[in-house]
Amino acid sequence: MSKRVATESLEDLVAGDSPAPKKVRLQDVPDESFTNGNGYSNGETIHNNAPDILGAAEEMHEELEEAVDGLDDDDDMPAQSAPRQRAPAEGYDDLYLDTVNRSLLDFDFEKLCSVTLSNINVYACLVCGKYYQGRGPKSQAYFHALEEGHHVYINMESKKVYVLPEGYEVQSKSLEDIKFQVDPSLPKEEVTRLDTQAKSAWDLLGKKYIPGHVGMNNIKANDYFNVVIHALAHVAPLRNYFMLENLSDKPQLAQRFSILVRKIWNPRAFKSHVSPHELLQEIALRSGKKFTLTDQSDPVDFLNWFLNNLHLALGGSKTKPNSSIIQKVFQGKLKVESQQITARADAGDRLRFEDADVKTDIQRFMILTLDLPAAPLFQDELDKNIIPQIPLTTILSKYDGIRAQERLNTRIRYRLMHPLPPCVLFHVKRFSKNKFVSERNPTIVTFPVRSLDMAPYVEPDPKVFPPGEPIWYDLVANITHEAVRIRDDSVEGEAERKVWRVQLRDKAHDQWLEVQDLFVESASADTLFTKESYLQVWERRRIAKKS
Ligand SMILES: [Zn+2]
Repeated sequence: MSKRVATESLEDLVAGDSPAPKKVRLQDVPDESFTNGNGYSNGETIHNNAPDILGAAEEMHEELEEAVDGLDDDDDMPAQSAPRQRAPAEGYDDLYLDTVNRSLLDFDFEKLCSVTLSNINVYACLVCGKYYQGRGPKSQAYFHALEEGHHVYINMESKKVYVLPEGYEVQSKSLEDIKFQVDPSLPKEEVTRLDTQAKSAWDLLGKKYIPGHVGMNNIKANDYFNVVIHALAHVAPLRNYFMLENLSDKPQLAQRFSILVRKIWNPRAFKSHVSPHELLQEIALRSGKKFTLTDQSDPVDFLNWFLNNLHLALGGSKTKPNSSIIQKVFQGKLKVESQQITARADAGDRLRFEDADVKTDIQRFMILTLDLPAAPLFQDELDKNIIPQIPLTTILSKYDGIRAQERLNTRIRYRLMHPLPPCVLFHVKRFSKNKFVSERNPTIVTFPVRSLDMAPYVEPDPKVFPPGEPIWYDLVANITHEAVRIRDDSVEGEAERKVWRVQLRDKAHDQWLEVQDLFVESASADTLFTKESYLQVWERRRIAKKS
């Protein structure tokens, strides 16, 4: 963890135009009241009566920590200090553990002390869920313990649990489920079975959910972000990497994405939805507020930014291909042939076209842009409700290396090259901006959800791939756009608002689910295409056989 104060939340708190973390945390808890008579009984206490050298060193470290905690708040000395203990008093084992209220615990929000707003040495109160700094005799957590009578605290980094104001560490195994929520990590065997073993889970309220397909909190306007994170969390090789790799020495961007992916796939979650607050705060900071939770952005713009920055955060090179998991999964090669269109008047003053040289360029891509044919501007009264449709394979023919496109005074042909990446991303270009207005093309793209043959768009190379063989891809995620008309008093009329949803393939149950923020519902594979596809994620099938 880097030790720094996240300025975004500070400003948000001051500006008051976005909900403060604490407030959101409360809203995030479902309405039904839930008491903690839930059978989470106290486990046995393990006393360590034989302190070794390591233990002694640790104690010294802890004393040091306590001393540091107390440095900055001398004015707030309590009237009397409670006695500090190394262990619970005889007969008082785990006395306080009954007061732990799991239904109020939510570790999705940025770990900032609710008093000092510092992110250094933060503890969560396991009774009310709030964050406080330090646990020494002059710390915020210590005061909270004295003032509110809340006694059990977890350190958000070490995941050690302490009783305050006494100050001893709790060794009970009954708290393991709470430690798991802070940072859910699954063993490799479990991660590799996520797509094959159909699993349902139940949250603390007894609500059933499917790990990997949980609701995601829209704090204010971050639906554009939610759909991209869900889509990426469904790319198996990427997901497995972020669930298994130790990224503790990597920048916060990589660490926080990794924790969010593991929370999305958490099979023992306390609640059946996640809040992306922590990652979003980091992204707002890193992007210079280009992407925030308060203003809606474009999912493709965000995906582009996120993939590039994640690549760099993982130590990827700016020049060397294949230098991070991001490029290994998404990056492909594109052959671009371009030819200048030149014309000049000849002796007879007639225009004469000249054949310029064809220039060939190899480019690398992560997202393939697919263009829609211009939607008819004026339609008959009768045709008004007919929305144009086009097959995916037709707009993909942009990459067949035959059809030429004209850009200004250049004729361009594109073709993909071997090897295609394990995962291809299609951006259906619906939105265009000119000087006056931004336009939307409502054309519906039709597609099968399985068995898309990409071979026709790839430059044949008999050395690496047998000619005539298909290259099958299956859809794993589809981000859709919907234009919703809303009343807008500022223009005294209606305005168009963008609503983003993501359709996800649940491989283990062989079904499709649609997620819009907190809402998760089942979807039919046959009708996925009826919405305005905007960003599609296709995974290459390992076996070259049509199913
Ligand atoms: Zn509390």
